[in-house]
Amino acid sequence: MLLGITACRTAPQSTQETAYRAESQPRNIILMIGDGMGLTQVTAAMYSIQRRLNLERCPVVGLSKTHSADNLITDSAAGGTAIACGQKTYNGAIGMSADTVAIPTILEMCEAQGLATGMAVTCELTHATPAAFIAHQPNRQMVEEIAADYLKTEIDLFIGGGLGHFVTRQDGRNLVLELQDRNYQIRNERMVFSDLTFIPNQKLACFTALDAPRSQESGRVYLPESVTFSANFLSKMSRKGFFLMVEGSQIDWGGHDNNAAMVVNETLDFDEAVGRALDFAAQDKHTLVIVTADHETGGLAIQRPSQAGHLTMAFTTDGHTASMVPVYAYGPGSEAFSGIYDNTELFFKMVRALGLDEK
Ligand code: MG
Ligand code: ZN
Repeated sequence: MLLGITACRTAPQSTQETAYRAESQPRNIILMIGDGMGLTQVTAAMYSIQRRLNLERCPVVGLSKTHSADNLITDSAAGGTAIACGQKTYNGAIGMSADTVAIPTILEMCEAQGLATGMAVTCELTHATPAAFIAHQPNRQMVEEIAADYLKTEIDLFIGGGLGHFVTRQDGRNLVLELQDRNYQIRNERMVFSDLTFIPNQKLACFTALDAPRSQESGRVYLPESVTFSANFLSKMSRKGFFLMVEGSQIDWGGHDNNAAMVVNETLDFDEAVGRALDFAAQDKHTLVIVTADHETGGLAIQRPSQAGHLTMAFTTDGHTASMVPVYAYGPGSEAFSGIYDNTELFFKMVRALGLDEK
């Protein structure tokens, strides 16, 4: 009797749970990292314009603790590795644990499960944040080794600067030729969005600069368009879903320069990119968008006599700070991102959202 009741009650529940899981489980993740984008950077961008930020469309907000394994104040290598791999490590480490053992990244795990993968950034592709998702090196300065690590992956698309590290190298390798041999179309950003013909199984390497891409103020425009393009490109690459990492890399550079106008412009450009991701997710309905930062840069404050549209800002440092950074989430699985947690939890939350722990 008791058994009967139990069986009777269990069956519909588990069916419901399965249905709920399918409903709440995203197929795709777009992870967006504003390097150095603390809450004040977001606030400054918000009060500099006369409309709401795209970020404000995210219903779920959390806070991430950014300290690294060896320092309360993280750098972008340890911060990126924490998010990409789920482990706190020492400042400077790229995809490696505190004892310099290579750790699989979320991007590599997605590849292994047959998802399409991509990255679009406004720094060199060898720079710490994108490197943490694809490379495994003991030190972020090892840019040639980091570039070569792209060839050890099956990443389907990448957009960013740093072409020089792929072609002008101590070891004499030309990684662009090697990428072509491995079925990549090679483009610059002017060629890519307008006239790229999608060829099934042909990957894309898009180089936007020989070294660091221009700032938004100097005419860089490609990041928002990259998000729409990449999401559509990756959707065609695999039926199983995709993982896309997008970085607004230069918010951090404005912070290091104590250049408030650059911080605001780069944050607004990144927010435009966030808007593109949210537009895609709103239509697609199977995409989880997560927006966060690896750390705050500059110890930025908005002071008197600020008014909306006319902000007076001050920096307390030309380095990073230990402030917690906001996490914004939208789409199926977004509820898991509320609360206060270590940056490493972002990795585990993404793994669980995609069900990578069940495969
Ligand atoms: Mg970065
Ligand atoms: Zn920095």
